[in-house]
Amino acid sequence: MGPNEVKETASLTTSSWLGLNDRVFVGKRLLKQIGRYARNCIPRQTCAVISDDKVASLFASRVKKGLRSAGFRPVLITIPAGEKSKTLEQAGAICDRMIAAGLDRKSFVIGLGGGMIGDISGFVAAIYHRGIPHIQIPTTLLAMVDSSIGGKTGVDTRDGKNLIGAFHQPSLVIVDLDVLKTLPRRQFNQGFAEIIKHAVIADAKMFERLKVTHASGSPQDEPAVVDLRRASETLALQQLIKRNIQIKSRIVAKDERDQTGERALLNFGHTVGHAIERAGNYRKFLHGEAVSLGIVAACAISVKRAGLPQDQRAAIVDLLERFELPTRLPRKFPRKKILDAVKLDKKFEGGKIRFVVTPRIGIAYLADNVTLDDIREAVQAL
Ligand code: NAD
Repeated sequence: MGPNEVKETASLTTSSWLGLNDRVFVGKRLLKQIGRYARNCIPRQTCAVISDDKVASLFASRVKKGLRSAGFRPVLITIPAGEKSKTLEQAGAICDRMIAAGLDRKSFVIGLGGGMIGDISGFVAAIYHRGIPHIQIPTTLLAMVDSSIGGKTGVDTRDGKNLIGAFHQPSLVIVDLDVLKTLPRRQFNQGFAEIIKHAVIADAKMFERLKVTHASGSPQDEPAVVDLRRASETLALQQLIKRNIQIKSRIVAKDERDQTGERALLNFGHTVGHAIERAGNYRKFLHGEAVSLGIVAACAISVKRAGLPQDQRAAIVDLLERFELPTRLPRKFPRKKILDAVKLDKKFEGGKIRFVVTPRIGIAYLADNVTLDDIREAVQAL
């Protein structure tokens, strides 16, 4: 192993994170060691490995082998890939399969997949026998830097995303960089929307570093392998992921249940982003792509309401474009549908909008002076 290569077991020690110190591991070749990591924190035998059919075909055998070698008895449960599987019906069906397999309150759950699997498997862990431990093995960049951290779990309903759910913190998060080799380029890039969001709200230095980072040199629709195969790039990616986990976990630690407004800062770009996802019927844009557009709208509003300098707004838009994220809506996209969806958003409380703005890169706050007209104007300009 060269001097720049990522260590096999690089742990992340955050200063304080909901008692999860030393329970987040970011490195290479970690999947095959999953049994050892799980053994150190969960003194149980049986577990459900919940995955989607695509991810399971790539990684489930490695995970099951790793678990068996440490004396666990894993049961693999797969559901179809895609957001349409994140439903209450599917969560119920998973529970039925766990009951049929004899899993009880002394079992635990492993979520192996992207954010969809992380959310539904966490929800199952939260409700099965009134709560059993959950291990997150995120396999998309978005899940690694965002959804696997913070304990928000849940499912979608016909009326909206994540309307049913529970807070349930993972006992262990294993981020194995190797799994990114098969992740398609578009999926890889969407993770950078959340990374750029973290930089804008909390880390001006990371923002500067991102300006000189290459996501991937591979052509459209090919897996994002090129740069990741280079040891030095992998180290950079590992550090970037660790830094993002730190940012998210520190914010969550201050407001775990989303009550004081601190955690709401993570919603920068999400009010409009969620509305765009919904207006596109959750098919037109990936979550990160919709968030990218939402960030552009939030920046326009920040210029108007928080004094964000124009050159910083332009730098944020440039950075999103560098990672091939959309910063303009297609000309014919139904903007009215976005406004309708914004009005339905749960961030409207008592007619007031909870809207996150940035006065300069590295800082964000919850504003109370943003109006629906501001949002309309920003959406029209997209
Ligand atoms: P996803 O889980 O649907 O994964 C996207 C696609 O990539 C799927 O087809 C999956 O099969 C495939 N895939 C995953 N890993 C792969 C790999 N290593 N190689 C090849 N293919 C792979 O989507 P996502 O973008 O990871 O997550 C989106 C979900 O996350 C949404 O449901 C969103 O609501 C949720 N989310 C939750 C939080 C939270 O705090 N809980 C935060 C942000 C987003």
